[in-house]
Amino acid sequence: MTPDKKQPPRNTRGSGDNQGGQDPKGTGGSFFGRSWFWLVLAVLVLFGSRFFFSRPVDMSNMIGLNEVAQKVEAGQVARIVVQGDVVTLEMNEGPDLRSRKETGYSLLETLKTMGVSAEKLEKLPIEVESPPSSGAIFSWLIMLLPMVLIFAFFFFIMRQAGGAGQNRAMQFGRSRARKLDTGDRPTVTFSDVAGSDEAKQELQEVVEFLKEPQKFAALGARIPKGVLMVGAPGTGKTLLAKAVAGEAGVPFFSSSGSEFVEMFVGVGASRVRDLFEQAKKNSPCIIFIDEIDAVGRHRGAGLGGGNDEREQTLNQILVEMDGFDSDTNIVIVAATNRPDILDPALLRPGRFDRKVVVDRPDRHGREEILRVHARGKPIGPDVDLGVIAGQTPGMVGADLENLINEAAILAARRNKRSISMDELVESIERVMAGPARRSRVLTEEDRKIVAYHEAGHAIVMEHLKFTDRVGKITIVSRGQALGYVMPLPEEDRTLKSKAEYEDELTGLLGGRAAEELVFAEPTTGAANDLERVTKLAKAMVTRYGMSDLIGPMQLQQADSNPFMGMDFGEQRTYSEEVARQIDQEVRRIVEQAYERARQLLVEHKDKLILLAETLLEKEALDRSEFLKLIGEPA
Ligand code: ADP
Ligand code: ZN
Ligand code: MG
Repeated sequence: MTPDKKQPPRNTRGSGDNQGGQDPKGTGGSFFGRSWFWLVLAVLVLFGSRFFFSRPVDMSNMIGLNEVAQKVEAGQVARIVVQGDVVTLEMNEGPDLRSRKETGYSLLETLKTMGVSAEKLEKLPIEVESPPSSGAIFSWLIMLLPMVLIFAFFFFIMRQAGGAGQNRAMQFGRSRARKLDTGDRPTVTFSDVAGSDEAKQELQEVVEFLKEPQKFAALGARIPKGVLMVGAPGTGKTLLAKAVAGEAGVPFFSSSGSEFVEMFVGVGASRVRDLFEQAKKNSPCIIFIDEIDAVGRHRGAGLGGGNDEREQTLNQILVEMDGFDSDTNIVIVAATNRPDILDPALLRPGRFDRKVVVDRPDRHGREEILRVHARGKPIGPDVDLGVIAGQTPGMVGADLENLINEAAILAARRNKRSISMDELVESIERVMAGPARRSRVLTEEDRKIVAYHEAGHAIVMEHLKFTDRVGKITIVSRGQALGYVMPLPEEDRTLKSKAEYEDELTGLLGGRAAEELVFAEPTTGAANDLERVTKLAKAMVTRYGMSDLIGPMQLQQADSNPFMGMDFGEQRTYSEEVARQIDQEVRRIVEQAYERARQLLVEHKDKLILLAETLLEKEALDRSEFLKLIGEPA
């Protein structure tokens, strides 16, 4: 079941775990301290330099230009050195004398106008030296000032963008991946991760590889390079990655995609290089990249500029991963809650080709998670964590951890010795209302509708000949879907018959039919089903020639010009009359399928109710549980 209203984009960074202790509030104060310090220093140097470079002009030996003229005429001057506007007279006798000429005028010309004879001037050795003239240096520094200011400004922006942190002033090209306790390994193990049994099972292989890479290498096995963990924020992706490192006893390098995306082009890429270098020195180890969607977004997607940096970073990650040889014992674990927007290049074999889905926990899973976090806390004898689990549908691990914590705080405030049921129940509301609320919690009424809807799909599908068998039914929401029926994996068929399509339509309509049967009122929940139904029925008529009325004609090209996801109208090559017939046929096919679904549900209404009510309680059922409930259909 998928609501047709588009959910507002979820916060992709909301995982809330504090990767490596960044200061979330930023260290604005210290930044201002630093940058102002540098600015003031720069200004001081500038003005100080004027002072400093003016010094060599020894005021005590200063003489006027007419005196210079006199001395030259008198033949007392051995040599003249001109540096900018400073004139130094090396005398035949006595100390050097200084003078200043006017900038921009030749000394010779000046002296000539002052009546120095031509032959004296001719004999006079004049040397012109370029700086250290204070004026030149000074103007040079003045030119530098705006650059210093601009640099300081960029610095400021970068610090802002990069999330402030201590002592990062000079190392923005460095990876901020941190090794937890250098040389040490995470102490988290799989026992700290409750539920998620399927994910743990899949990750077990990675653990084994990291423990004994030689064993796998000896057999020439291709080792998993990249594991992509997909799941809503707070479902425990980071925790699982750490647990893999903990189980294998290897170092864990953690980093986040958003950290790579900085102001300066090239910084992200160099960070990636740095991160992998660091990891290679410590292999076997795990590199964890959180929020990989921040860099791994579909290349070329999104309008406007600003993608270069991301693309470079992404390319660098791909280059590094491709550069692994068989004895690079590094496994890269990436996490995202938006697998749909990832660049397909990331998912190619030899990259993140393993996908581990971390689902929201069902009721049983929630109870286990509560138990993990209740460990080591004084829990009162009246507490039944199963009841709390039943009242927290939609919550993820992070919420439940928060819930226990809130309860502990409440108990402490009430001067209690242990946490009792009261505090736990009260905390449910606090967590649900809290700002960090990230899961969608349905009302009891909505949950009921979802349960009947999914049960409807399952019952109908199981009683049809050509539909997929029911693999798993859940009313734990995932992505846009509020619940779903997962078919058993079966071989893909290339050719499908009309009867198969009709069954498929019927199965798709099972959800809607159940809703109408039980609640006598349809909801928006079936919007996605209906969309698929309409498309499929239309394709049957216009592309596959499965309608007797229209006959075996193809009236519509496959996927007509999907420009930017929009359909700019099909090129219609048939008449108004045929169009009407198509509509009529599509409607007839859909109505027939719907009627079949309804009939099946009426016939098996007891099973429908039993299944829906069980779903409401347990939230998820696998195939064996499902069959036990409804009995093997004939
Ligand atoms: P994600 O990375 O998927 O956003 P995290 O791994 O950061 O989620 O989870 C945040 C916190 O929630 C964890 O530190 C842990 O305390 C708690 N948590 C989440 N899932 C579980 C779980 N399956 N078992 C126990 N605790 C969990
Ligand atoms: Zn549905
Ligand atoms: Mg996380």
